[in-house]
Amino acid sequence: MKVLLFDIDGTLVLSGGAGLRAMNEAFFRVFGVRDALVNINLAGRTDTSIIKDAMQVFNIQFDDKKIEFFKQEYFELVKHEILVPGNGRRIMPGVKALLEQLSNISDVHMGLLTGNWETSGRVKLDFFDLGKYFNFGAFSDDSEWRDQLLPFAVKRFERLTGLLPEKSDIYVIGDTPADIMCAKPWQAVSVAVGASHYSVEDLKKYQPDFIFQDLTDESVLEILG
Ligand SMILES: [Mg+2]
Repeated sequence: MKVLLFDIDGTLVLSGGAGLRAMNEAFFRVFGVRDALVNINLAGRTDTSIIKDAMQVFNIQFDDKKIEFFKQEYFELVKHEILVPGNGRRIMPGVKALLEQLSNISDVHMGLLTGNWETSGRVKLDFFDLGKYFNFGAFSDDSEWRDQLLPFAVKRFERLTGLLPEKSDIYVIGDTPADIMCAKPWQAVSVAVGASHYSVEDLKKYQPDFIFQDLTDESVLEILG
C-alpha cells in the first residue's frame, strides 16, 4: 500500500497568480490595505500563516472571526481569478499522465497535503479537472503549521478506507523545503520536485528521500506506483 500526499501549488499546478491576486484583493476588502502580500514569502506556507503574518505587518489584531471572514471573501474571489488566463497558469509537467497512471493502481491512494485552505485548493485543482483524483487530504483549515498537517490527512484516509498505513507507506510530494520538512517528523517518505519555486540543488540541502527535476521522469512512477 502507498498513500501519496501531494502539494498543490508548484507541484500539481500553477494558478498563474490567481491565489495571490485573490488574497490581495480579499485583504483590501476586509482590512483596507492594498497589495498587502507583495513582500511576504508564500512558497510552502499555509494560507493561515500567510494572512496572520500580513495582519501582523499592518498591526491588525488577530482573531479567528476575522480569518473566517477573510476566507469567505477569498473563496469567492479565487473562483473568478482562476478563470483569468494569467501568466504561467498551467498543470505542471508530467502531472496529468502520472495521476492517471497512479489512479489505476489499486493499492495506491492519492490525497492532498497542502498549505491551501480546502475550498480554494479545490477551486485551483477543479479548474484543471484534477480534483477528481483526491478524495481526502490535509489543509490549512486543519493547522497553520505545515509540519502538523500529515496526521490529519492520514486519519481521514483511515476513516475513508479502513486501512492502516505504516509510516513508510506514506509519501509527501512537494516543491519546497517546507514540503520535505513536514514529512520528517512523521518518518514519511519525502519526494521533492524542483520544477517550480526551488531548483533541485536548493532542495537537495534539505535531504529529501527522492528528488526529481519534474514529474515527467520515468522513475517517478516506479517510486510512487
Ligand atoms: Mg508548493
